[in-house]
Amino acid sequence: MPRLFVRLASVGVVLTAGIFVCLAAGESGRDSAVRWRQHDIHRPKPAVLEPSDDPAKPPHGAVVLFDGTTLRGWKSATGGPAAWKVKDGVLETVPGAGPIETRAEFGDIQLHVEWAAPSPPRGRSQDRGNSGIFLMGQFEIQVLDSYQAETYADGQAGSIYGQYPPLFNAARPPGTWQTYDIAFRKPRFDSAGKLTEPARITVFHNGILVQNNEAPFGPTSWLRWQPYQDRGGRGPIRLQDHDHPVHFRNIWVLELPDRPRPTAADVAPIHRVSLSPAQLDRYVGAYRMGDIPAAPTAKIARSSDHLEITLPFRPGALELVPTSDTEFAMPYTDGHFTFKRNTEGKVTGVIFRVADGERELKRADP
Ligand code: MG
Repeated sequence: MPRLFVRLASVGVVLTAGIFVCLAAGESGRDSAVRWRQHDIHRPKPAVLEPSDDPAKPPHGAVVLFDGTTLRGWKSATGGPAAWKVKDGVLETVPGAGPIETRAEFGDIQLHVEWAAPSPPRGRSQDRGNSGIFLMGQFEIQVLDSYQAETYADGQAGSIYGQYPPLFNAARPPGTWQTYDIAFRKPRFDSAGKLTEPARITVFHNGILVQNNEAPFGPTSWLRWQPYQDRGGRGPIRLQDHDHPVHFRNIWVLELPDRPRPTAADVAPIHRVSLSPAQLDRYVGAYRMGDIPAAPTAKIARSSDHLEITLPFRPGALELVPTSDTEFAMPYTDGHFTFKRNTEGKVTGVIFRVADGERELKRADP
């Protein structure tokens, strides 16, 4: 089976032209790791997650942190009971009670929070409906009454406090329910505790994008910036008590998985064989992509020790590396070509497979 070529080639490989050395190097951030072949059928598929019938409700599989009835699952920041008020389905900050945080800890998450600033409004600037949502207990998404109310840009509702103002002021009036939908990617550290990738934060405020995949400079810190510290990869979701009776409801979180990385076998170099120019030239020519005579054709040419295919409607030629006398593989894709020959040895067509898809191309210039 052609799809086995890649797997079978994991040992005793011939190092070919540094193709996969290139795959492993030269890029930054999360792409710096070895990259999967495109369309690799062996790549693990995402878990099925059933969306909610009601967009206002959490998807199945989400962890409901506050459902309007109880603060079970929450505690004070010092480990005591969460001493905020729950009434009529609403969670209310109790000024002076201190912050509350989830007992559970999280890393990468999608978080939904609904909140409302006190009505009628009182105070000005940061002393007006102030609370906050701390991701991993470290990175504050500001909660503030920013509706027709002035304060500094990097302290408005929807800011990553002290660092990134929101892209828009999307605030609703005090007393009105507002939504935050937050995507958080935790910072990554190496085994020595050195930062390898900063946190990433995306926020929609009332459905409007106000933080677009921003990278905080470090944990939220008032009046000075603090460097990142490896605190173990997980942390609670904390709600801030800033002496204002801010309301919350419908808080849920979805933990996000890491994408599986390819194993060494997944990215092992192709087990390439050497064919003579005469052997390669047998396959050079045009191949029809369909049964009708007017079907577009693919062109196969020889380029030194391998073939190249030019597909209709796709610019540029693609490398085909020989893995046997009749079989060729595409280095960057889970794609394989098996040429067909009749009893006289004449090439009549080729089977083109990508992942779990397959089609036959017929020789157009026999
Ligand atoms: Mg705050």
